[in-house]
Parts: sequence; C-alpha cells; structure tokens
Amino acid sequence: ETVDRTADRSSSGTNTHRADAPALIELQGVHKAFGDLHVLKDCDLTVEAGEVAVLIGPSGSGKSTLLRCINQLEEPTAGRVRIAGVTQGYEEEPLPDGRWQKLSPKRIARQRARIGMVFQRFDLFPHMTALQNVMEAPVHVLGRSKEQAREEALALLQRVGLGDRAEHYPSELSGGQQQRVAIARALAMEPELMLFDEPTSALDPELVAEVLTVLKELAEGGMTMVVVTHEMGFAREVADKVVFMDDGQILEQGTPDQVIDHPTSERLQGFLASVL
Ligand code: ADP
Ligand code: MG
Repeated sequence: ETVDRTADRSSSGTNTHRADAPALIELQGVHKAFGDLHVLKDCDLTVEAGEVAVLIGPSGSGKSTLLRCINQLEEPTAGRVRIAGVTQGYEEEPLPDGRWQKLSPKRIARQRARIGMVFQRFDLFPHMTALQNVMEAPVHVLGRSKEQAREEALALLQRVGLGDRAEHYPSELSGGQQQRVAIARALAMEPELMLFDEPTSALDPELVAEVLTVLKELAEGGMTMVVVTHEMGFAREVADKVVFMDDGQILEQGTPDQVIDHPTSERLQGFLASVL
C-alpha cells in the first residue's frame, strides 16, 4: 500500500509558486514496461517549482527509469508526464477519434531542452576543454554567439568553483571536478529543472562533498530538482520531499523527517537500515 504524506506538509511557506499555477513536474499514473518486465507501476508524483525531491530506493527499483521518463529518454507505457502543465511528448488535445497525437521530434527536442540532466558518469566530451564542453550546446543548440557563450560558460564554471580550470581537459580533472563541469554544462542550457541520477556514486568519497555543495547551492538558488542519491545527510538537509521507490512503485513520500526518521513500511525501514 502507498503512503502519501504530502498533504500534511503544513504550509511551510518556503515556496513561491502561485496556488493556481500547475506543478512544475506532475507524473500521473506513469507506468513503464519493457516487454513483460513492469519497471514502473502507476507512479504519481508532484514537484512544485523551487522544490527539491530526493528519490531513494534499492537498486533496480526504477529510479533511473522514472527520471528518464521525466525528460523523455523513455516513453511511459501508460500515464503522462506534465511539465509546467504541458503534457510531454503529445499534443495537448486528443484527435477527434480519441487518440493522442505524438509531437514531432523537433518539438520533443524543444521540450527536452528545458530539462537538464546529470548522470552518474560524468560524460564530458574528452577532446574538449571544460570551457568548450560548457559552450558547446549554447552555441550549437541555442544559437548563441561564441563570445557570449564563452562569457556565460566562464561565469558558470566560476559558480561551480572551477574558474581556474576552464582550459583543462577532462583527463586533467578529478572526478569531482568533471562532475561539476557536467553540472555547469547542463546549466548552460538554462533549464527549467534539473535531474540528477546518482551524481556522486562514481566518486571517491573525499570528492562527494564538493559536488553536493554545488547541488545545495543550486537548490538554495531556487532550482527545481529531482535527485537520485543514497546520501541521506544531503536528503535531510536539502530535500523538501523524499520519495521512496521499491519494485517500480512509489511506496512512501513526505518530508525528510517523515520518510527518513519515521518510516512506516517495513520495506523502507529495511532500506534505510542498509544505507544509514
Ligand atoms: P534503479 O535506477 O532504481 O536502479 P532502473 O530504473 O535502472 O532502476 O531499472 C529498473 C528495472 O528496469 C531494472 O530491473 C532494470 O534491469 C530494468 N530496465 C531498465 N532499463 C531497461 C531497458 N532499457 N530494457 C529492459 N529493462 C530495463
Ligand atoms: Mg539507477
């Protein structure tokens, strides 16, 4: 059974969204199957503008697939994903015969460009400097001039603490530095929200904090984020909402205090015992 305790999150007043504005992220009955394997089962999730949702759960529970559905790297088998009230991947209205019409690849690309994603492996272009990595998409996708893209990229590298590493190649940077370049590269597209899939789990332990600090600063700046992580300290400190997934379902969600400190299901209690 599912426990959703978001309703009794008393009005903490920290979010600035208008009461009548649609949620920034809204998953309604999202289901995903690969053949006979049902990886996501009827997932409902709402993230308001400016909120940070931390997604936790055992390996194979569907966390990455959920993120990939949010930014259309995967297409849900059923249900829908809405971003700022706009259904992803489909026309807003069904055809007269009731079928929903898919958007053109070009319009899907436009929707996807509004969502930044950072993966576990910092997949930078190895033959480009940090600066070139960050400039690449603004120049080639957004059509920025090289001068403007360069200026903005330098500012972003500074923001993630790498102002002095702009001319370094990925092979000359530590894992933590590479991941911070990857974050700057995603931010360069001016995303409306950011998705992070275990951004620190490939890092040596001593490099985790520098990446979490960047995430925390982003959150404090008001970025809407969904973060898959096993870093419970980060979840406690930064998350507005912690979401526990198990076997393709969202089993519990609520504040860090509710989910991490007062879990109700045995599954969640067992999971927390394994990571805390
Ligand atoms: P998590 O991120 O929580 O570890 P995933 O979303 O990566 O979980 O995977 C959930 C389940 O879906 C796993 O059993 C995984 O093997 C399966 N899966 C993910 N992607 C695919 C795919 N493209 N084809 C088939 N099975 C997949
Ligand atoms: Mg995963």
